[in-house]
Amino acid sequence: MSSYDLAVIGAGPGGYVAAIKASQLGAKVLLIERGDVGGVCLNRGCIPTKSMIASAHALAAVRAAGEYGISVPAGPAAIDMRKVQQRKEAIVEKLRSGILQLIKGRGIEIAKGTASLAAKGSVNVDGVLHEAKNILIATGSTWMELPGIKIDGRLIVTTDEALSWDEVPARLLIVGGGVIGCEFACMMRDFGSKVTIVEATPSILPPVEGAISRLLARTMKAQGTDILTGTTVKSAQVEGNEVHALLSTGNELVVDKLLVAVGRRPLTAGLHLESCGVELTERGAIKVDKNFCTSVAGIYAIGDVIGQPMLAHAASAEGISAVEGIFGNGAKSEVFDPEMVPSPIFTSPEIGCVGLTSEELKRRGSEFLTGRFPYAACGKALCDGDTDGQAIVHTDMEGKILGVHIIGRDATLLIPEAALAVRKGMTARELEETIHAHPTLSEIMAEAAADVYGMAIHKVSRDR
Ligand code: NAD
Repeated sequence: MSSYDLAVIGAGPGGYVAAIKASQLGAKVLLIERGDVGGVCLNRGCIPTKSMIASAHALAAVRAAGEYGISVPAGPAAIDMRKVQQRKEAIVEKLRSGILQLIKGRGIEIAKGTASLAAKGSVNVDGVLHEAKNILIATGSTWMELPGIKIDGRLIVTTDEALSWDEVPARLLIVGGGVIGCEFACMMRDFGSKVTIVEATPSILPPVEGAISRLLARTMKAQGTDILTGTTVKSAQVEGNEVHALLSTGNELVVDKLLVAVGRRPLTAGLHLESCGVELTERGAIKVDKNFCTSVAGIYAIGDVIGQPMLAHAASAEGISAVEGIFGNGAKSEVFDPEMVPSPIFTSPEIGCVGLTSEELKRRGSEFLTGRFPYAACGKALCDGDTDGQAIVHTDMEGKILGVHIIGRDATLLIPEAALAVRKGMTARELEETIHAHPTLSEIMAEAAADVYGMAIHKVSRDR
């Protein structure tokens, strides 16, 4: 039986990053994966979606070319979904082989197969036992299904299938107005679908700052997407090549495809957690302490399998933190704090968030100050032709930044600065004093920070 310092179950962005970090710290590592390296993020999630969104943006840019003084040949711009898919596949394949090279280059052994926990200190991979002093579970998450809606993979689908569509559905119903629902809605609208979102709660993107999700909803509606909040789908039937969906309002909607995007649940089936004494939370996630250790010493868990935030970069950060705790000899980076995980949302316009929202601050009874700055007052936004959006900065009463929420062009590029500010406990004054290059969209950040004190240069009145 081969023996390792660490066996990592799952080679997604949590598992493979943890394996590399452990190897950097001198550990002998086994990485176990039954599918492709890169996990959902690379193969069926973040990367394929962003590749397709890039195609959707290119199409939108061609359509809007006239606004920038460019004439294109007469006739509507056409989209070839097969080529969009080929481009996506090439990107995914390139990244996959890059990860494999990194893993092999680090001397990490890969076991292809399905792992389960065996006797203490060992892992069973399709019947073969491997000894490991430490085990890290990074098995991720899988789709949540809805009663009354049976996924058939053809007309009623998850994004696993939707990411391979080689035709644009004329009418698309998306159940769930969360991150996936909204990103898909914006992309498919750009591709030419008539999209309807059905969302159970009173607003789309429920955990996002209210002002931001309201602005997104307004923009999406203006772009032609129907958004039905406070609504669910009771049942959905396939009839020929159509789906008939019965809504909680009593209305029926007939569409060509129905996409279910109502969240994901931790993937623990088949791991034999119970027999080893690894405890779960009420929501079925693996229970861990602040060092990502489960209820059993030597068994750790990170990423979606431990619950929210189910984000690739959170999984990677958790993996690094867990492994540094095991092999770092005390040289551990800062404690992982879920409240400091930035969230990039690739809607049109984009959203970037980090830290606390005004709704959460009110719920906690905290006093706070807010600064806002609109894209419309930024020269670069005007040059780019994208003036819809704003940045919102919340601070405590001493000016320490607690949360930053941005909607607008390249908001996902602006949020890392805010993540640094929140992480390092910076004040709005420090953010404002940092010189932001002109002409760039980043000036919006400095101005929103200055507005906390009513001191934004390019804003006359404070709209609070
Ligand atoms: P989500 O939790 O973000 O959204 C699910 C939405 O479905 C919620 O708004 C919820 O209220 C709604 N919903 C639940 N049951 C419903 C019902 N019966 N009828 C109508 N609406 C219902 O989940 P998701 O969008 O599926 O994404 C899954 C995970 O992947 C999330 O954790 C998300 O953060 C992550 N993700 C992140 C990104 C990103 O950061 N860019 C992109 C994609 C996915």
